[in-house]
Amino acid sequence: MKRILSILMCVALALTLTGSALSESSDATPKYVFMFIGDGQGSPQINATQYYLGTLANPGAAIPKPAQLSFTGFPYVGIMTTYDATSFCPDSASTATSMASGNKTLSGVINYNIDKTESFKLITEYAKEQGKKVGVLSSVSIDHATPAAYYAKAVSRSMYYDIAVQGLSGQTLDFVGGGGYLQPTGAAGDQPALTDIAIENGFTIASTNDEIRALNADSGRVLAVVPDPDGSKAMQYEIDRQRIESAGGDSLSLSEMTQKAIDTLYGDDGFFLMVEGGKVDWSCHANDAKTSILETIAFSDAVNAALEFASAHPDETLIIVTGDHETGGLTIGFATTAYDTHFDYLAAQDISYADFDKVIAQLRDSGASFEQALAEIEARFGLTQTPDTGLSLTEEELAKLEAAYELSMTPSAERVIGKSEALAYGGYEPLSMACCHILNNKAGIAYTSYAHTGLQIPIYAYGVGAASFSGSYDNTDIFFKTMDAMGVEADAI
Ligand SMILES: [Zn+2]
Repeated sequence: MKRILSILMCVALALTLTGSALSESSDATPKYVFMFIGDGQGSPQINATQYYLGTLANPGAAIPKPAQLSFTGFPYVGIMTTYDATSFCPDSASTATSMASGNKTLSGVINYNIDKTESFKLITEYAKEQGKKVGVLSSVSIDHATPAAYYAKAVSRSMYYDIAVQGLSGQTLDFVGGGGYLQPTGAAGDQPALTDIAIENGFTIASTNDEIRALNADSGRVLAVVPDPDGSKAMQYEIDRQRIESAGGDSLSLSEMTQKAIDTLYGDDGFFLMVEGGKVDWSCHANDAKTSILETIAFSDAVNAALEFASAHPDETLIIVTGDHETGGLTIGFATTAYDTHFDYLAAQDISYADFDKVIAQLRDSGASFEQALAEIEARFGLTQTPDTGLSLTEEELAKLEAAYELSMTPSAERVIGKSEALAYGGYEPLSMACCHILNNKAGIAYTSYAHTGLQIPIYAYGVGAASFSGSYDNTDIFFKTMDAMGVEADAI
C-alpha cells in the first residue's frame, strides 16, 4: 500500500512538474508582465479582508472560514524585508525605488542613491528597451511616490510637477492613469500645464468615464484621469464609490481602470503594467479598518482583470502581487475581545473616515448637539445606544465619543492638542477616529500606529517565471527576480 501511495505521489509530482514546465520554466519569458502593489498592504490587511469576506459568506459558521482573494491562491508565495537606508519602517518612495530599480535609498527619495548624486535605471526602462509597452496606474495621484518610482527619478518625492513632467515628456510611458496630478501647473501655478505637455508628447487625454471606457489598442499613448477625484487627486475610496453607485452615480473602479490599461497596452509588443492600490495605505494611516478592507477588495478585483487576461494568454503572462510596507500596525485580536472576533460588525460602516469628516464639518457648521452626532454615528457606523446588541455603546465608549465630539465641534485652529489627543486621534478628525477605533475594537481588530511599520510583506506570483518569487528575500530582489523572469540583464554600473 505504501509503495502504491509513493508511486501515486511520484506521478502527481511529475504531473505537477510537467504542468509547471509548460508555463513556468526558467527558459520561458513573459510577454505580458503585471506588477500589482498594494500600498501599505501587508499580511494583516490581506488576512483581515479574507476573514471579513469569509465571515459574511458563512454567517453563524462554527469554524471561521477565510475567503480567498483573487491572488491568495497563487501557486508561488514569498516574503520580503522592506527596510530602507533610513529606517526599518520605510516610506513608499524608498520601497518603490527598491522594487523598480533594485537599490536601497533614503525615505522620501525616488530612484536616486543615498548621496542624491546618481539616479537608477528602472525596470520599466529595461522593459521599454525590450520592446514592451509600459503602463502605470494608481488609485491615488499619478505623481505619488509609488507610481512615480516606475517612471521618474527625483531627489524628493514632493517634486510633484517635475515628476509628472518626466513621465509625460519621457519615452517610457504608453499608458498612465489614476486620480490626477497634485500640481497640474507647477508648485506656484506658473509652469506649462501638464495637459499641454501630454498633448505635445502625443498622449490622448481621457478624462470622462465615456472617454476612458472607449480606450482600446488603437488609442496610442494615453493619459487617463478619472473625472471624480477626491481633494487629494485620488480616486474615490471603494467604500464611498460603492455608496455613490448605490445612489445611482457612476464612478470608475480600480478594476475597470486596470481593464482599460490592458485594452490600451495590448498588442504584439507585449507590456509591463504596474498597478497600485494606493489607498489601503491612506485608510490604514487613518486606522479605518473597514475602508482598508474595501480597498483591498478593490485591489483584488483589479488583479482579477489581469487573471482574466492571463487565462487568454496562459503561456505569456506573469502576475506579481505584493505591497510596499505595512501601514498602521494592524492586527487581528484585541484586548477586550480576547480570542473572539466579530468581523460582521464592520458591515455596519458605509462611509470612509474621509467622507465622515465632511459629515462632521456639517455638524460643526450647524451647531449640532451630541445626540444629533450620535444619530449620524449610528447611521454610518452602526454604533448604537440601543442596549444588548454587539454594537451597543458602553459608558466608556460613549465618554470617548463625547470627548472627541467636543474637540471636533471646536474649529481646528482653536483646538488644544496635547499628547493624549495626539495619541488618541493621530492628527485626524477626532470624532472620525473615535468611531473607527470603537468599531474596530468591537470587531476584534486594532492598530498600533498611524504610520508605517517594519513588518515583512508577502509576495504572490502566478504564470511564466513565477516560481522564482518563492522564498524569503529583500524587496530589492523583486527587481532582480522580475528582470530574470523577463530575460533582461541589468546594465553594468
Ligand atoms: Zn507606501
